[in-house]
Amino acid sequence: MHIYKDGEKSKGPCETCRKLVSTTFRYAPLNYGGRVIPDVLQDFCDACGSSVSIPQQSSFVVREYRRAQYNHSLEFRIPPHHRDILIAIGMTHNISHKPNTLFRIISELYLSKISLPQGQKVKKKILSAMGDDLAKGASKSRLSCLFPDTAYSALRDISEEANVKTSSIAKGIIVTAKYDILDNLDKELAKEFEELAAERL
Ligand SMILES: [Zn+2]
Repeated sequence: MHIYKDGEKSKGPCETCRKLVSTTFRYAPLNYGGRVIPDVLQDFCDACGSSVSIPQQSSFVVREYRRAQYNHSLEFRIPPHHRDILIAIGMTHNISHKPNTLFRIISELYLSKISLPQGQKVKKKILSAMGDDLAKGASKSRLSCLFPDTAYSALRDISEEANVKTSSIAKGIIVTAKYDILDNLDKELAKEFEELAAERL
């Protein structure tokens, strides 16, 4: 990996200037998913000042920042066949075979939708999946994972609003994912799952 330094000169295509321009690497705040990460090395166009690219070394800074946001450690007890569902989803999509990792990604996928306009539909789907036959069974397996702020507050909101335990919601999410992603009944969502996994792993 080539490591660039603050103030180093380079060249690159600028989308704003629509041509190859000379550039300078500088540490500056980076907008990332609605948040600002301070001090990320970026390559700036000398003519218009826009950020032209982000060097590889900065992708690690971004990844570390994202990791640090996973700060709510949660534990759930689930039926063993839920662990199997998670592993089956992970293996059929070539993502991971670790139930904890898979649950973190799957729950983030669903919980991030709750705050969107179509969120009510997703919430209903998860709550009704809690009554599905697949949601039943002695909870002998354990899941433990780190939740990002947004997913954690969405989980707490549904839990309070519907007056159900967070572990029941976890089961509802796994059963919903079984139909949507493992059985591929929601092809668009299955694709979103793969994209989110690629981003998170
Ligand atoms: Zn430019």
